[in-house]
Amino acid sequence: MKALDELTFDNRFARLGDAFSTHVLPEPLDEPRLVVASPAAMALLDLDPALAETPVFAELFGGHTLWAEAEPRAMVYSGHQFGGYTPQLGDGRGLLLGEVYNAAGEHWDLHLKGAGQTPYSRMGDGRAVLRSSIREFLASEALHALGIPSSRALCVIGSNTPVWREKQERGAMVLRLANSHIRFGHFEYFYYTKKPEQQAELAEHVLKLHYPECREQPEPYLAMFREIVERNAEMIAKWQAYGFCHGVMNTDNMSILGITFDFGPFAFLDDFDAHFICNHSDHEGRYSFSNQVPIGQWNLSALAQALTPFISVDALKEALGLYLPLYQAHYLDLMRRRLGLTTAEDDDQALVERLLKLMQNSGVDYTLFFRRLGDEPAALAVTRLRDDFVDRAGFDAWAEVYTARIARDGDDTETQRRARMHAVNPLYILRNYLAQNAITAAESGDYSEVRRLHEVLSKPFEEQAGMEQYAQRPPDWGKHLEISCSS
Ligand code: AMP
Ligand code: MG
Repeated sequence: MKALDELTFDNRFARLGDAFSTHVLPEPLDEPRLVVASPAAMALLDLDPALAETPVFAELFGGHTLWAEAEPRAMVYSGHQFGGYTPQLGDGRGLLLGEVYNAAGEHWDLHLKGAGQTPYSRMGDGRAVLRSSIREFLASEALHALGIPSSRALCVIGSNTPVWREKQERGAMVLRLANSHIRFGHFEYFYYTKKPEQQAELAEHVLKLHYPECREQPEPYLAMFREIVERNAEMIAKWQAYGFCHGVMNTDNMSILGITFDFGPFAFLDDFDAHFICNHSDHEGRYSFSNQVPIGQWNLSALAQALTPFISVDALKEALGLYLPLYQAHYLDLMRRRLGLTTAEDDDQALVERLLKLMQNSGVDYTLFFRRLGDEPAALAVTRLRDDFVDRAGFDAWAEVYTARIARDGDDTETQRRARMHAVNPLYILRNYLAQNAITAAESGDYSEVRRLHEVLSKPFEEQAGMEQYAQRPPDWGKHLEISCSS
């Protein structure tokens, strides 16, 4: 275990120089205090979780003090936002505080979000409010616990600093961890500003630090792009299988590592709805739940365009062609597991599609359906679940095919099947209304709810005593919460 001042810094991105980022100091928050910390994320830095409660911790991650070795930088990038190109974005309210190595030799970026204005703030105040910081914290850690690749969150620090949104709120900071904060938009920036030397430097940096195995390949950059395609296909398959809606899949919010990144108006589905739009500013539904799959490919094409100086167009097209088949394979594999199947049959895709259609038409709770399906022997589970469906005959027909399919699947016992299903079907997910309850309490100074919710969500597959209230469908007020980007 390390003390806070014992982190080992290695600020490789900062050393790329001023073409890539600008030195900026964090603007401290008034009366910084710990809202919540993640012991699992602290372990990534070899930090003792008890350190989170010390005053120096809140001062450090509330922007008051800094390690002598930290080199805080605001990164420049650009990106396609809702399909249109914005030539310059960048860290407008976040700073890459520094890069550290942990004892296991892993490289972690420390990024402080809500740290004040930078040269990339445009009209913004450089701040983040408590509610959005809590949402980012909970989502990062909850996705990770579900096995969905994501940036991580060390802590949220609250304050008395007033911040104006639709009304006056309070400023907060979230300390985000990721192996890299480089986005698709970083490559787009150097491509569209016609800076080939810097772009080559950036590509070399990413290859060396994050895709070293690709350097052994005959065409390292192509191997790297292929790997990025593969990782994105797998990440988005997991989003779709678990009902996660990102909400703002602009290319500046897409990580070069294929991890879920930059949380805004995200949501997990309550009722299954393929057309669900979680971002209330997304009038056209560009980033609706089911559109995430083609948008993943669109975003990868935008990255491919920016990589044309290094890779032939034919090779890029071929690599892009891997996306959809890989996505489908990962998705079907996960959905089979969610249904309790261990073998593959040709009709499984149709079995999944028919089920989703029935769920869509009846507004069935997506998470609880799968959990309950694994609660009991298949024949019994479907008789209990049928009441949730408006089209009973349709469900019965599906259930007949499903129970026959389960019977053919393998010879494990009911207990084994149940354990297998519960290990992939969460009981607890980050429902918007649960986040909202925790935020309302935190805004009045009570952080116990956000801490409890974080703890419950860190073991989503394990039934936890006394936590039934976190495994319920939303009340009426919690069904259609509108979440905007203004956070
Ligand atoms: P986002 O929608 O959070 O991905 O942000 C898009 C761009 O706007 C990024 O360049 C952010 O840094 C910037 N941005 C968002 N909110 C603010 C803010 N309050 N102050 C300054 N820049 C911001
Ligand atoms: Mg962003």
